[in-house]
Amino acid sequence: MPLYTAEALILRTYKLGEADRIVVFLTRDRGKRRGVAKGARRVRSRFLGTLECMTLGRVRYFEREHRDLVRIDEVEVTRSPFAVAAGEALGYLGYFAELIDEWAPEADPNEKLFRLGASVVEALAGEAPVDRVARYFEYWLLRLQGVYPSFSTCPWCAGDLLEHGAMVAERERVFVCRRCGRSAAMTGLAVSPEALTFLRSARGRQPHRLGAVPLSSRASEELGAAHLALIAAHLEKNLKSARVLRDLR
Ligand SMILES: [Zn+2]
Repeated sequence: MPLYTAEALILRTYKLGEADRIVVFLTRDRGKRRGVAKGARRVRSRFLGTLECMTLGRVRYFEREHRDLVRIDEVEVTRSPFAVAAGEALGYLGYFAELIDEWAPEADPNEKLFRLGASVVEALAGEAPVDRVARYFEYWLLRLQGVYPSFSTCPWCAGDLLEHGAMVAERERVFVCRRCGRSAAMTGLAVSPEALTFLRSARGRQPHRLGAVPLSSRASEELGAAHLALIAAHLEKNLKSARVLRDLR
């Protein structure tokens, strides 16, 4: 059985049999994998504290011929978000992990997605404001798929969006100007110039530097709602963790 060691992000786990867990993790260089962590649910398990979602670490695992499920030998934690994140940030961990899980196909390497997830964990460890990190993460997740719509120009009339704000045209999955939105009798979500200006300055930064980019909680909520609508339209489903987050607020 070949043994691999990979930098990886733990996405989620579920129970297997009496004492084991299946672990879904995103590796830097070999895509998303699923593996068995033997005895992970025992009180004295060596996996204790290593399998929480968005844990960053080095996963050592055996591949088995003709089996999709690998066997996890060891997880060495390099960054545990639970050790540093508190309060609202904790609620977001499951959300980040679910989004990455939804967007990462099995065994299809996507180093950019891995780096995005890892940078978010580092930013939370550095106490960057979690809502700004979340908006940044949503933006880049859609952008890496090549589906983030333009937020500078209205695709229907070429009007400027940053100056007057935008609306989400959910069916078309684009931002349009408010005038076009109104004339199409759209009831879509509005996104203020403030929220779009945040995006413009935030997208080119490292997420641990987002504390320096202003965003009011109202503008963050607008942008978060717009992103969720775009994400749901692309995934063709609603996220479980998004509902949990809404309930937490
Ligand atoms: Zn327009």
